[in-house]
Amino acid sequence: MPLNIAIDGPSGAGKSTLSKKLAAKLGIVYLDTGAMYRGIAYYVLEKSVDPAEAGLVLPLLNGIDMNIGYDSSDGVQQIIINGKNVTPFIREHRISFAASTVSKIPEVRLKLVELQRMIASRCDCVLDGRDIGTYVLPFAAVKIYLDARPEVRAKRRYDELKAADRLDGMSYSDILNDVNKRDYQDMHRDFAPLKVADDAVYVDTSDMNVDEVLSKLSEIASKCR
Ligand code: C5P
Repeated sequence: MPLNIAIDGPSGAGKSTLSKKLAAKLGIVYLDTGAMYRGIAYYVLEKSVDPAEAGLVLPLLNGIDMNIGYDSSDGVQQIIINGKNVTPFIREHRISFAASTVSKIPEVRLKLVELQRMIASRCDCVLDGRDIGTYVLPFAAVKIYLDARPEVRAKRRYDELKAADRLDGMSYSDILNDVNKRDYQDMHRDFAPLKVADDAVYVDTSDMNVDEVLSKLSEIASKCR
């Protein structure tokens, strides 16, 4: 059976950076499931549909054929929708909240969960998201919940957007506000909300650097396997 490592947590906890590094260290695949929800959000917005209008989003779902690829030069995950690589567009700030909104729709989740489970059943991988340990892969061999104080997570997000020149005039407090709103929405949706799985190891990364978290995660993974 393939090794599946589930890493869940709120935005800015360090999931994608650490999951990517852990997967590279173990020589296994990294699946960023948030990017899949971002891909759907991008597609919905491109069709000028409000992601909050489930009745308008649902008819679009059958027309979405999503594929996951990996760049041959740097191994970075690519989201392909109906043959178009949407990866360059899904990190925009406007997509973050739209992804959280569209992810409340159960049919959206079920479509992506099916793809996530298929990938996880075929290869050893680290998956990061919000519901991997609780819903997508309840029997994953390793479950980790990464967290950090909201102010720390907002600062990380602010620095990330600034470095990518994507702040678009937003201040740190705008980002903190958005982080809190998105957390609330992700934790309070009816279907597969963000929560700590009973059997997950909880790691607070607020006062840890990347190397410290990576060695902690490697230790947890080696103990649980
Ligand atoms: O992780 P990232 O910030 O890219 O995720 C974008 C949004 O996608 C999250 O705010 C969350 O609402 C949604 N998501 C989810 N379940 C996952 C991964 C992401 O609901 N497994």
